[in-house]
Amino acid sequence: MVARPSPSSESCSAGQAAEVIPVDIAAAKAVAIARPVRETERLPLLGAAGRVLATDIGSQMDLPPFDSSAMDGYAVRLAAFAGKGPWRFRVTGRMRAGDPDTCAWEGDAAAVRIFTGAPVPGGFDAVLMQERCERSGDGILIAERPRAWENIRRAGEYVRIGDRLLAEGEALAPQKLALLAGSGVADVEVLRKVRVGLLSTGSELRDPGQSLASGQIYNSNRVLLRAMLAGFAWAEVLDFGIVPDHRDALAEAIGASSGRCDVLVTTGGVSAGDEDHVVAAARSNGASLEVLKVAMRPGKPLKVGVVGGTLFAGLPGNPNATLVTFRQIALPAIRATAGLRDVHPAWFPAAAGFSYAKKRGRTEFVPVRVAGRDGSGAPVLEMLGRGSSANLGAMAQAEGIALLPPEADMIEEGMPLRFEPFCHC
Ligand code: AMP
Ligand code: MG
Repeated sequence: MVARPSPSSESCSAGQAAEVIPVDIAAAKAVAIARPVRETERLPLLGAAGRVLATDIGSQMDLPPFDSSAMDGYAVRLAAFAGKGPWRFRVTGRMRAGDPDTCAWEGDAAAVRIFTGAPVPGGFDAVLMQERCERSGDGILIAERPRAWENIRRAGEYVRIGDRLLAEGEALAPQKLALLAGSGVADVEVLRKVRVGLLSTGSELRDPGQSLASGQIYNSNRVLLRAMLAGFAWAEVLDFGIVPDHRDALAEAIGASSGRCDVLVTTGGVSAGDEDHVVAAARSNGASLEVLKVAMRPGKPLKVGVVGGTLFAGLPGNPNATLVTFRQIALPAIRATAGLRDVHPAWFPAAAGFSYAKKRGRTEFVPVRVAGRDGSGAPVLEMLGRGSSANLGAMAQAEGIALLPPEADMIEEGMPLRFEPFCHC
């Protein structure tokens, strides 16, 4: 874990020019000050979906636990295939899934009718698919000699007793839970949920359902962040509502709310304008804050740091800027606080289906939709809108965000790009 900055390690105080840094450095700085939650709780598997494992989990059994048939067919013994075929065997038993392997089987030449999932009786070392056997009376006729252990899932073939099934810091996706269930694990030790506090700042904001006076707008960021966080079973949201642009009111709200959460995310009021009070309000609560000037669009001004024991992320207020900075910078830090190993956004290779002039040296995040596939199957992206951080319409139509790299001043059709689908947020 990286040490938290002390108040004296502030890289920048108001008025000093902050260095402009790339997005990945900004995200790494935010992740570095995250302090993972430590408290754990024990949950039954059925209540643990999406939660973060607090410990490694070793298998308490072999998987499969016994030799079992992978097919409906006939269990045979290779040693019984003497001379040339075809061979005829009497069918002397029947094994279904769930039957115990307790029967005694007659003679060397016997075959056993067997169904998928049934234990393979001791001494039998191949299962022939029923389609390859000709049934006649109480026997079967087989034309081809089987291979050893054909169509048999051997005990311990997938997992050996004591093997590590899952590691600390993994989120319990459905297939991981299925693996645990398959090896008999009934409950798991998970990290407690990370408490994420949300504070919308801005004197102009009203919530939908309220009436708007002149100069007021509706609060989009509250539901945006609530809904994004609602997708994470490892997070619990504490919503502290809207605070107007008054330094004292903000200071009080930040003081009261930061003590109740592990991470406090604010939106709005973080630029250098006279009416941007978030930094001063956080500092009046003893915050150690780093003013990040990130070479990104949207979202250049943002703040990360610590207020009391709480990670603080002050995001810009334009909804698209909030969305992008939340996903790229705040969320990795929140994921790290939740104890997750895997903290950075998942991105996929794609190709530009558009041309667009941009400023060199700045990473741009633009809303995109998948318009088709190129020859290698990679998504070809259509850019929506013209990059305004206030235009939610384009973002609402998008399937994800494309990253336009800082080294380019012109995006040409066919250029490789990174694509972050929303479903992988
Ligand atoms: P700020 O970051 O406070 O300078 O705000 C930038 C722009 O985003 C301004 O036009 C604000 O009115 C707008 N804005 C700030 N917060 C929100 C919000 N929660 N929902 C919608 N728009 C917002
Ligand atoms: Mg504002």
